[in-house]
Amino acid sequence: MNESLVKSRAFINGEWVKTNKRFRVDDPFSQELIVEVSDCGEEEANQAIEAAHNAFQTWSKTTAQERSDKLLAWYDLIIENLDDLAEILTTEQGKPLKEAKGEIQYGANYIKWFAEEALRIDGDIIPSPDGQKQIHVIKQPVGVVGIITPWNFPQAMIARKVAPALAAGCTVVIKPAAETPLSALAMAELSLQAGIPKGVINLVPTSEASVIGEAITSSSKVRKISFTGSTKVGKILMSQAAENVQRVTMELGGNAPFIVFDDVDIDDAVEGIMASKFRNSGQTCVCANRVFIHETIYQEIVEKLTNKVESMKTGSGLEDDVSITPLINQAGIDKVKRLVQSAKDKGAKVIVGGNVSDKHNQIYEPTILTDVSFDMDIACEEIFGPVLSLIPFSNEESVVEQANATKAGLAAYVYTDDRHRIKRLSEQIESGMIGFNEGIISNHMAPFGGVKESGMGREGSKYGISDYLDIKYLCIK
Ligand code: NAP
Repeated sequence: MNESLVKSRAFINGEWVKTNKRFRVDDPFSQELIVEVSDCGEEEANQAIEAAHNAFQTWSKTTAQERSDKLLAWYDLIIENLDDLAEILTTEQGKPLKEAKGEIQYGANYIKWFAEEALRIDGDIIPSPDGQKQIHVIKQPVGVVGIITPWNFPQAMIARKVAPALAAGCTVVIKPAAETPLSALAMAELSLQAGIPKGVINLVPTSEASVIGEAITSSSKVRKISFTGSTKVGKILMSQAAENVQRVTMELGGNAPFIVFDDVDIDDAVEGIMASKFRNSGQTCVCANRVFIHETIYQEIVEKLTNKVESMKTGSGLEDDVSITPLINQAGIDKVKRLVQSAKDKGAKVIVGGNVSDKHNQIYEPTILTDVSFDMDIACEEIFGPVLSLIPFSNEESVVEQANATKAGLAAYVYTDDRHRIKRLSEQIESGMIGFNEGIISNHMAPFGGVKESGMGREGSKYGISDYLDIKYLCIK
């Protein structure tokens, strides 16, 4: 590991800041300490907000070209250091190195994309009703943004927010997840090397998330909160943000349906299910959570999935050809155990796996459950582990109803060759994103986000920058 990128202090106003308290960051595979990191509290959060507020006075007045150039310099450094960043990510988060490399590139793509979008923050001139005035519309950065992110994509979730914020002219205070602050700190180090001015990016790792959350939401200097994480915490932050009427972007939990109709190429559908389900050992918000398979092809798909799942290798993310690695912590393991046990108690059958690995206490074996039904918790909650839960269905109307029977509405997947059905389901399925005949859908050029309790706002694409801009109307006579 490149030690010069392993930072352990908070990053405030361009300085590495030591705190009295520290907290442990452990490798989920070796379960050994990687490093102890500065544990920020209210004082450091307020210093970071002050630094971001001061930096906003100058950063918001830079030209779009200047901001674009700085973001591109940051992008270049991330790509130059991609292998080292990926190793840090795998060490603290656990995912296979190949996936970690994919995440660094994926996150970097947002930085490049928004470096380009910075140049396209256009206003408008609108005709006035009486023809006597001019209606001008300009766009301005919202101000300081508080960013709170989860551990499952410790680099990309930050890149996806910081890039549009900086491109718009905002400055940021970031609270990374306690399990995975090192990828964030390495990104901050590279931002310094890229010449992003002090105070524009501030980073406050902590073991007391709610303290930082309250400092950010109670400050009138912070004008926006961008959060990715669970719906439960998203609701807390939304209610706190109401106090100062801060704008919010909420990327929250999912419960993705994956529907396979009987008119598809079966091998293609099996590939799609595997890709969607097992990335990051099932710890993604867009993971196939409930897989509905048409009853006429159910058995064949179960057999093909079984062959694939049985051949998956488990182990450390740093080993070659490993696809299933440790879950983030013991709580993650406990949740998967509870969901599988209660499904079994209600009649689900374990076809493969179904246990914690006997080689490692934080790896859950890749698992297939059949005969899953709607009275089981596993069909209602986000699994966040490598468990495929399979449900047969017989007709389109009922499967759409079942797919929509959740408060979440992030991603959905539909495999079908029928273009009329694609048109119908495009409208009927209640989710922010649908993959038709595709199991991996997210990229920087597409709008990522959910409906219902999966959140509000969109990240990436030409829409992603608007959350960081205020529209101002000028009536000119
Ligand atoms: P989480 O418990 O909600 O935590 C997310 C972040 O919020 C972490 O940084 C956490 O800090 C912080 N946090 C927790 N309580 C807080 C509070 N009271 N005030 C302020 N911050 C607080 O979620 P998670 O378990 O890390 O991540 C998994 C969830 O994220 C899943 O539901 C998944 O679907 C969702 N997710 C959604 C998307 C999307 O784009 N929609 C993407 C990825 C993940 P600590 O780390 O210190 O607890």
